[in-house]
Amino acid sequence: MAETVFGKIARGEIPAKIVHDDAHCMAFHDIAAQAPVHVLVIPKKPIESLSQVTPADSALLGHIWTTIPEIARGLGLADEGYRVVVNCGNHGGQSVDHLHFHILGGRHLKWPPG
Ligand code: 5GP
Repeated sequence: MAETVFGKIARGEIPAKIVHDDAHCMAFHDIAAQAPVHVLVIPKKPIESLSQVTPADSALLGHIWTTIPEIARGLGLADEGYRVVVNCGNHGGQSVDHLHFHILGGRHLKWPPG
C-alpha cells in the first residue's frame, strides 16, 4: 500500500492533535473539522480501506469499536451522542488510503449524508 499521511502520523513523523494512543490504534483531531468535534481513529496497522479488512483483523476491529465509545466519552460526546463514519473507496468519498473512523459530534448532524 502507498505511504499515507496517516502512516506518518502513526509513526510520529508528522504532528497531530492526538487524543488517544495505544498499541493498536490512535485517534487525533481532523485537520479540517466538519463538526465542533471531529476526530479520526486509525489502526496502527496500515490497512488501506474497509474493503481490505480480513478475518485476521477481527480482534483489531473489535478493539477499535470498543475504544471509540471511550474516546467519544473523553471528548464529552457521550450524553448528546455522535456519529461514526467510515468512508470506503471512491464512491464512499475516501481521500486517505489508510482505514479510518470519523467521530463527529458537538452539533445535531443531518441525515442522510449527501
Ligand atoms: P476521508 O475523506 O478519507 O474519509 O477522510 C480523510 C480525512 O483526513 C479528512 O477529513 C481530512 O480532513 C483529514 N486529513 C487529511 N490530511 C490530514 C492531516 O495531515 N492531518 C489530519 N489531522 N487530518 C487530515
